[in-house]
Amino acid sequence: MNIGVLALQGAVAEHIRSIGLAGGQGVAVKKTEQLADIDGLIIPGGESTTIGKLMRKYGFIEAIRDFANGGNPVFGTCAGLIVMAKRLEGAEEPHLSLMDMTVARNAFGRQRESFETNLDVKGIDTPLRAVFIRAPLIKEVSDRVEVLSMYKGEIVTARQDHLLASSYHPELTDDYRLHELFIQMAKEASGVKAD
Ligand code: GLN
Repeated sequence: MNIGVLALQGAVAEHIRSIGLAGGQGVAVKKTEQLADIDGLIIPGGESTTIGKLMRKYGFIEAIRDFANGGNPVFGTCAGLIVMAKRLEGAEEPHLSLMDMTVARNAFGRQRESFETNLDVKGIDTPLRAVFIRAPLIKEVSDRVEVLSMYKGEIVTARQDHLLASSYHPELTDDYRLHELFIQMAKEASGVKAD
């Protein structure tokens, strides 16, 4: 599977590495035309306001919405999760408005700006190693969205059909099982028999 990583800003190389470890082919996506050649897209962590601005500037809002609405999988991590949400707490406008959820940015407060933990994730048999960096939280989801994991009572991983989102950075450890899950979603979407 060819998995694109949106390369406007943020942790791009790390996702490409994790995709490789998980058995896929990662490629940096800098132009909208490249979406035609990939089976799934990862929107990395970074700064959601900056990623949103650059997506608008380079025509990625419409292009990614079309890509996703055509049934292609999209996976947003941290800032990437923020840009996928239909609703953001506070004054900020949503960006891609793809996933039916409300997200709060920088939801852990200063004391816990960044930390690592083990998370139980539905579909992954032992706890996943996860790195949270000024992470957002999913405050509310519609019934179209499946909650895959919680951290201290708050939603941190969710899936809506072919859309996947995590509050944390799964690409900063050697635990690539969420990338494996995403590659599986890409296989299912392109009609390749799961192995
Ligand atoms: N705090 C960032 C934001 O609001 C997200 C941080 C991250 O992606 N690690 O965009």
